[in-house]
Amino acid sequence: MKCPLCQARAEGRITTPPPDVKTYRHCGFCDLIFLEGPYPARDEEHRRYLEHENTPDNTGYVRMLESFLKQAVLPYINEGSALDFGSGPGPVLADLMADIGFDVAIYDPFFAPCPDVMSQQYHLITATEVMEHVFYPCHVIAELNHCLLSSGILALMTHFHPGVAEFINWWYHRDPTHVMFYSLRTMNWIACHFDLTMLKTDKQKIITFRKN
Ligand SMILES: [Zn+2]
Repeated sequence: MKCPLCQARAEGRITTPPPDVKTYRHCGFCDLIFLEGPYPARDEEHRRYLEHENTPDNTGYVRMLESFLKQAVLPYINEGSALDFGSGPGPVLADLMADIGFDVAIYDPFFAPCPDVMSQQYHLITATEVMEHVFYPCHVIAELNHCLLSSGILALMTHFHPGVAEFINWWYHRDPTHVMFYSLRTMNWIACHFDLTMLKTDKQKIITFRKN
């Protein structure tokens, strides 16, 4: 089966035990782990995203996004145009960025599907808790890269997988809409392939790139 990121043949196979039996593939080349299939249907995805309590009233969620901005964004950029990709049902991060002074656009295939937004270029693009949901990460990253101005910042948050041996017991794949799992090695592959410079990572879930 072809890796949906680097297109190499993903030979490794990981099957989770009952009751929730699912098969994942591991790409030995870029270290991506991905669900073999079937992928969640669009209406199931939509329903699940509405259940996420990602609202301004959820103080834990707001605090997590503030921490993300403080670590991954503000050391590198604090003004200009910004796109929050995968903004979700309530654009909390976009509001926080607008408060800082960014000129913020949002895009979300379910909740803000305005195609014009994806034909512009931005100084900053954020995608928090998004990359684990995408079915074709190579296309999505190429699209985001295309939407970045030269020297623009791309800041991502997605939990890095713990390696093949630990994967079965890991909590993050239990959400049925999580289908793609990256590691630091995967992020290095992305930097190399898309000509990005890795500026910062906590090696757990946060990573910041600059477009060269
Ligand atoms: Zn790969």
